[in-house]
Amino acid sequence: MHHFFMKVYGCQMNVYDSDRVRTALSRRGWTEAPEDKADVVVITGCSVRGKAEQKVWSELGRYAGSWKKGRRPYVALTGCIAQNLGKRAFSRFPWVRLVSGPRHIGLLPDGLERAVREGVRVNLLDENPREFFDLDEFTELRENRFRAYVTIAHGCDNFCSYCIVPYVRGRFFSRAPEDILGEVEKLIGSGVKEITLLGQNVNSYGRDFEDGYGFVSLLRDVSQVQGVERLRFVTSLPQDFTEEIARTMAEIPCICPSLNLPIQAGSDRILKLMNRKYTRAEYDAKVHMIRSILPELGLTSDLIVGFPGETEEDFLESMKALEELRFDLVHTAAYSEREGTPAASMPGALPRGERLARLTRLNELQDDITLSINQSLVGRVFEVLVDGPAPKGEGMLQGRTPTDKVVVFPGSEELLGRLLPVRIHRAESWCLHGECD
Ligand code: SF4
Repeated sequence: MHHFFMKVYGCQMNVYDSDRVRTALSRRGWTEAPEDKADVVVITGCSVRGKAEQKVWSELGRYAGSWKKGRRPYVALTGCIAQNLGKRAFSRFPWVRLVSGPRHIGLLPDGLERAVREGVRVNLLDENPREFFDLDEFTELRENRFRAYVTIAHGCDNFCSYCIVPYVRGRFFSRAPEDILGEVEKLIGSGVKEITLLGQNVNSYGRDFEDGYGFVSLLRDVSQVQGVERLRFVTSLPQDFTEEIARTMAEIPCICPSLNLPIQAGSDRILKLMNRKYTRAEYDAKVHMIRSILPELGLTSDLIVGFPGETEEDFLESMKALEELRFDLVHTAAYSEREGTPAASMPGALPRGERLARLTRLNELQDDITLSINQSLVGRVFEVLVDGPAPKGEGMLQGRTPTDKVVVFPGSEELLGRLLPVRIHRAESWCLHGECD
């Protein structure tokens, strides 16, 4: 019997992949154990940001002591970080016994058994960006009982100039609708109430099919699976988000009025350098269209500051975009160079201190906006899916509104998994506080 421990860094795609690996290993009789009791540690890591990559790299170094003493644990490195750094990890750390890129995850359970049983080192890096070996598992063992993710498309063909995803996750392709629907049915059968469809660019779903089946067809089909109480999706691309998608969201009650629409920069000059395929005016028009169809929309965005060549004027355009568009939340980041991307060799790199100073200014502005939006919700009642105990406070539960805001309120554990009306009586920028109505 083998004991394993899972560590995940990065985006929801990595969490999803890691939950499927956890399920696959458990089905093979492996047992999840605390890290100090594990024979094998599976690290799923992200290479989108330099900081996450450095963190995983220093984690890998930590096993030197235990390896010298007892030659365990074996470490398996997977996720997009493995695709990017796997070869270096193999040569530098003898305890790394398996590396697997995200497109070879289906080969990982067999590979891991071989690594442990035969003492061999297994290389599952994807040399072909179109090849794919999926893991035929649903996330039966997952972080949350009531909410689950389902990948609908892999890879990305957009090649934004700062982004490493197309190089480490390969070319875009859509998963077959029957596989997705089958997975949704299994998840609902295991107690899930809310499904989030996942992809780097979900709106392009079906673009590679010849029968015209697309993202809207999929939204309709998933919403009709018996037991799906809430349906979300992430991430959308401004140029690919259509009026038909917005109208479908408005028409089908279980599709939540929440949307992540990354803007990335407020200046047209920087958007062009980023190879984003829209202007600020086109982005604004899209938001206007969506909000006119979905007036209660919870809208979040992503924004990078300190891109090479970003002037103070460009940066102020980003600040202005936040003021004018008033997002509910913005995932902000200081630009970090990813080796091998076009932006990494662009002129005009900003000093780290300047990038961080701009990030602080931007975050302060957005915190005020988020807080004022949240405060405007005090007194209103929202339907909340109760998805777990609150991290702090005895007898407190937490859940999410349809617009994806976290709500904390008093209640007992038999309410878990239910949809309840909660009246908001206090707001912070990160969560709302309320009581069952
Ligand atoms: S759309 Fe752009 S930012 Fe998003 S994954 Fe693709 S290349 Fe990266």
